Amino acid sequence: MIIAIDGPAAAGKGTLARRLAVHFDLAYLDTGLIYRAVGKKVLDAGADPEDAEASEAVARALQATDLETQGLRTDETAQAASKVSAVPGVRAALLEFQRDFAAYPPDGKKGAVLDGRDIGTVVCPDADAKLFVSASTEVRAERRLKELQERGLEAIYARVLEDMKERDARDSSRAASPLEPAKDAHQLDTSTLDADQVFAKALEVISSREA
Ligand code: C5P
Repeated sequence: MIIAIDGPAAAGKGTLARRLAVHFDLAYLDTGLIYRAVGKKVLDAGADPEDAEASEAVARALQATDLETQGLRTDETAQAASKVSAVPGVRAALLEFQRDFAAYPPDGKKGAVLDGRDIGTVVCPDADAKLFVSASTEVRAERRLKELQERGLEAIYARVLEDMKERDARDSSRAASPLEPAKDAHQLDTSTLDADQVFAKALEVISSREA
């Protein structure tokens, strides 16, 4: 069983994906973390994330341990991830890893939940269930602000909102696998829902597809 969850930043994808993975006993892959790892490595090397050649070289050499690097969750890394992820060569280099994870989930699991931007459209177009999770930009910026503050990071709302708009615009307008719902994705607006309500709705959608 493959569940694809896509949507913009801070829409609630990660929380939902983790809960679905536990519920159905599936493996979970946060694909944003892979792009973040590439973005961070490019920054650490002193290169420009918009430099296609440098970013592609990093993506090709990426190791599983790079996903455990500190600092992958900062907004600086998110912006770098958004830039490297617009490079077609970077996306191509990371595609196989994501597809392999879905085809051969670790720990003997019988399937996987993947979350990202292009799971339902490109990585797993044949997924058993596809959800496109979104929320208003303001709600997402509030959630992101809270998350950063809870982790002890300094953040101000106006800046978080600006960063989010910039990242959304770049992710949606890029030519290579832009952020967009798959035609057969079920759209879920989480603006007025809490995590439990989102989970309940997602379960409803998935069970109605299984029937
Ligand atoms: O999901 P997260 O916010 O961690 O993703 C960071 C960035 O990585 C996104 O803004 C997007 O540019 C990129 N990304 C992507 N495709 C994915 C997952 C993430 O382009 N499947």
